[in-house]
Amino acid sequence: MLRGIKRLNRYENRILKIVKLGGKLVRLKQFGFSTKTDEGFRFPIYVLEIGKSKAIKKNVSGLIAGVHGLETIGIRVLLDFLDDLFARKNSALYDEIKNGELGIVCIPILNPGGVALKRRSNPKGVDLMRNSGVEAVKAPFFFGGHKYSNIFPYYRGKVLQTESRVLDRYFQEYFVNAENQMIPVVDIHSGFGTVDHVWWPYASTHEPCVDETLFQKIGDHFTNVLNHFLYRFGPQSESYTTHGDLWDRLYDKFQVTMNESPIQKTNRFLPLTLEIGTWSDISLDPWKIFRKRGIFNPARESKQKSIISHRRFLSDVIRLAKMDPSELH
Ligand SMILES: [Zn+2]
Repeated sequence: MLRGIKRLNRYENRILKIVKLGGKLVRLKQFGFSTKTDEGFRFPIYVLEIGKSKAIKKNVSGLIAGVHGLETIGIRVLLDFLDDLFARKNSALYDEIKNGELGIVCIPILNPGGVALKRRSNPKGVDLMRNSGVEAVKAPFFFGGHKYSNIFPYYRGKVLQTESRVLDRYFQEYFVNAENQMIPVVDIHSGFGTVDHVWWPYASTHEPCVDETLFQKIGDHFTNVLNHFLYRFGPQSESYTTHGDLWDRLYDKFQVTMNESPIQKTNRFLPLTLEIGTWSDISLDPWKIFRKRGIFNPARESKQKSIISHRRFLSDVIRLAKMDPSELH
């Protein structure tokens, strides 16, 4: 039963509208299909290339949403951001893109099958953020990912799913050979906690990643210089650990390609997860927890405001793509 098909169609129409508004600055590509539903349906997964081709090589950044089919707030934050960028055409960021200073590659909905089915997992019942094959040092029972059965949430799956492989292809195509010093990527989720978190690797271990100092610097810069004090920055493992995080895998893969490169490279691949906190609504509306999806999406009234509030943060992350780490204070 495709209970979410109307919602998915609505988002796809918004993507097409952005392509139209963006003119030469936006290109739509299809990077494969979702896994099949029990009825045999599969859904295209799109990538939007934004900016001049030169900027996509030299100053690229990434935006991803819809990894979990129920977290539609992330998809809406991403679409609102692009919509606003191309509808107004008068922001500083728009000029930077138009002048070839910045490029963005977006996957607005990585898990369209989950959106169409109104569920967190992909159509095969696999939680994509538990699917990468990375083993956590120690993860919470069940929630941290398990291999029992796809009838339970947080199922890791036995193989890398097509959606996860699309993310791989996207990583290979745009980030492995990117020329910018800092290659920032934001993957937008919702549901954990009462405040907005910005996480960096790792999800699998409390061990610091090789870019821990740089990530800390970025967090400090965003808080103290750019005044993003509503976001709480830190490694994901500070909140919780899981098996199978897709960013852990790609982050490690990037270090391997760096080490194997015949020329010495100093570029840094910097995946961030924006986890929009939604638990605070529960105290205002206790019935919410009894309604399906309630816990993953903020109350309707505050929704639009919350969506718009992330525009400036996303612009600033994208700008890291044209900065040098030494410019961070
Ligand atoms: Zn999520």
